[in-house]
Amino acid sequence: MPMVEPLSQTSAGLPADGAPQDEDHRWMALALDEARAAAAAGEVPVGAVLVRDGRMVATGRNAPVATHDPSAHAEMAALRAAGQALGNYRLDGCTLYVTLEPCAMCAGAMLHARLDRVVFGAADARTGAAGSVLDLFGIGQLNHHTAVQGGVMDEECGALLQDFFRGRRAQARAQAQPVRDDALRTPEARFAGFDGPHAFVSELPALGGLRLAYVDRGGVAGDCTQRRPVVLCLHGAGQWGHLFRHLPDLLPGHRVLIPDLIGFGRSDKPKKEALHTREWHAEVLRQWLAALGVGEVGLILHPDMSGLADLLAGQGAIAGPRLVIPPAALVVRGAAAEDAARAWAAPFPDKGHEAALRAWAARRRPVQDLSADAARALAARWQALEGPMGYSRE
Ligand SMILES: [Zn+2]
Repeated sequence: MPMVEPLSQTSAGLPADGAPQDEDHRWMALALDEARAAAAAGEVPVGAVLVRDGRMVATGRNAPVATHDPSAHAEMAALRAAGQALGNYRLDGCTLYVTLEPCAMCAGAMLHARLDRVVFGAADARTGAAGSVLDLFGIGQLNHHTAVQGGVMDEECGALLQDFFRGRRAQARAQAQPVRDDALRTPEARFAGFDGPHAFVSELPALGGLRLAYVDRGGVAGDCTQRRPVVLCLHGAGQWGHLFRHLPDLLPGHRVLIPDLIGFGRSDKPKKEALHTREWHAEVLRQWLAALGVGEVGLILHPDMSGLADLLAGQGAIAGPRLVIPPAALVVRGAAAEDAARAWAAPFPDKGHEAALRAWAARRRPVQDLSADAARALAARWQALEGPMGYSRE
């Protein structure tokens, strides 16, 4: 549901001396937050905020899937919420910020509302009605009211949409891959609200058709001359790559590889515990790193994975610095522990999926996580380990 803030209670007012362009950016940043919330709910990420006299009146986010409503666009939600908040369907003096160029329906609703101004982010070449496909705001017989400005933070707005659709395509491809008879695959719906696009591999000999899920951030596609330090991140038993969600952004200039070990996260879950030997997991990771064509690899790992790391190092699969997460950095309490418990439970809808938990003796432990602050401290320690050039020591 759209959020409504009565004018008298809002704290989001902007300083009166803010330059108009600054104001546009700041309101668009809030619209982007709404868009991200839409993405987290599995909706196409479009968000909107409606502003009058430097104060936020209403917000809206795209929600047609959840509401079974083709009109549940972010702009419609914001316009409806604003009408309720102001007690008037006429929205004179208001500006609507939206991350994507409005469609004909939303543009029409804005004209009916006699909105002062609409500011959008990314252009929409398929359904945009503010100049891309047609321009409802430019038709004099229809419109004497609404000024239009596009392209505000368009890169951020567009990137969010591209990431979302890339993730959906990856998921569609993943769904098309068959599951091995002796394994289970957690339905993607269990991961709703967690981080987005994942890559998958199942062609490695050691996998025998099992599917390994991983995040690969910061690789420079098609550029072999660009040498970036590679960091492999290994989660603990009972966790998955979500543990390292804050880390890639904290290690700019690095390629960060975060697998969900087989049996955990989005990776396939063999039904038999006996498969889960350290030697086999090490061989899977060795083949995977070789297939990715990465050279020297450093390692950030949960203490659970020290034995696995020793095997990888013994095989020459990793050769960079190694950093074990200090146990104190993994302690979380209160709401953070509840969030983490939800994340670690997500891959396991029933006992049949839990063979890896049994094999790694990962049940009934205190809930651990790596908070944003702890990840920041870890990234700083990593960079100190690497030395001033960002390259690992040779
Ligand atoms: Zn629309």
